[in-house]
Amino acid sequence: MRPLIPALAALVILAAGGCGRAGETGASEGPEVIAAFYPLEFVAAEVVGRHATVTNLSPPGVEPHDLELAPDQVRSLAQADLVVYIGGGFQPAVEDFIIELSGIPTIDALEAQNELIESDNEGHESEEGAADPHIWLDPSRLASLGNVIAREMSEVDAGNADVYGDNAADLAGALNELDEEYSASLENCERNELVVSHEAFGYLTDRYGLEQVGVSGIDPESEPSPGRVAEVAELARERGVTTIFFEEQVAPDIAQVIADEIGAHVEVLDPLEFKPEGDSDYLDVMRSNLDSISEALGCKQL
Ligand SMILES: [Zn+2]
Repeated sequence: MRPLIPALAALVILAAGGCGRAGETGASEGPEVIAAFYPLEFVAAEVVGRHATVTNLSPPGVEPHDLELAPDQVRSLAQADLVVYIGGGFQPAVEDFIIELSGIPTIDALEAQNELIESDNEGHESEEGAADPHIWLDPSRLASLGNVIAREMSEVDAGNADVYGDNAADLAGALNELDEEYSASLENCERNELVVSHEAFGYLTDRYGLEQVGVSGIDPESEPSPGRVAEVAELARERGVTTIFFEEQVAPDIAQVIADEIGAHVEVLDPLEFKPEGDSDYLDVMRSNLDSISEALGCKQL
């Protein structure tokens, strides 16, 4: 009687899937994709276009690090056609639940891009040895995620495979353009130290030959020790740093303390963990971040 079990599992998948069966459920038009937080939602939405619905699991204004799941989110995860998240301990509640999901395709963006990126440009770790989840701040890594989503969507909804492939290629084009703007703008700078409260910019600084000096670590809610604050202030003074970056959603206190101590000023740098306000998207915010960084580092545009 063994063969019954896979057959049953296949039936469950068919019933849960939205692939071409929307008329039967009446509830949805096309597959349902769930993205764990904003940058993943951005990539998924660009890839699926109007052929699937993309839902962001992190509500507006909620810090996605350590997101907790509400009961209706658990239900929607269990009915999704594809779930895109970031593993490595970024959102343990999401990861724990995903382990229990069976028969639903999932993409761990961290794992997927580690497989795609050449070994000389590997992911890195925090001082505590936790994987750094912030891959989306390197546009080239996000482009590779678009391709992985397109590949997975082509399994979920084979009829639109070409559209997903084309959309991922368009997105990769836009992200490569952004990557080239970053490379060009940050090539000729007076300083290369990016002093940030929340250590989200490690992949970005790696990519463009800068150095991230973080105060609070990879998790924005962890309190830095007074020793760490003094150390960063000292380094920033030594290197003539003019700008201490903080993110809008987290109180600027620590950044302000350091800035005051060394006569620098504070400026917002958006780690893009939240959906941008208004009509702005990932590309817009990345460009405004680039302006802020190149201004702070005294970069000359050739
Ligand atoms: Zn973060």
